[in-house]
Amino acid sequence: MVPMRSCIACRSRESSKDLLHLVVNEGQVIPDPDHKLGGRGAWLHPKCFGIAQQRRSFSRAFKSAEDLSTEKLEAFLKEVNLRSKQ
Ligand SMILES: [Zn+2]
Repeated sequence: MVPMRSCIACRSRESSKDLLHLVVNEGQVIPDPDHKLGGRGAWLHPKCFGIAQQRRSFSRAFKSAEDLSTEKLEAFLKEVNLRSKQ
């Protein structure tokens, strides 16, 4: 059995293998594809990144009063996209 998680942007429930695990470190959203990082986590479809940004889903998911930086996550997703096109 694969555990079911909700995407923070579209809220649909999905098996955790189809979602990207995210953690927050010092105001930055960090992608954690291998689940190596501890702490409070959130889950996102890679394709829902734009929606999550629009809806400020990251701040909400991590209960942060401030906007979180998504630079690292964005760079990670770009790389994944490039790799999948090759
Ligand atoms: Zn989603």
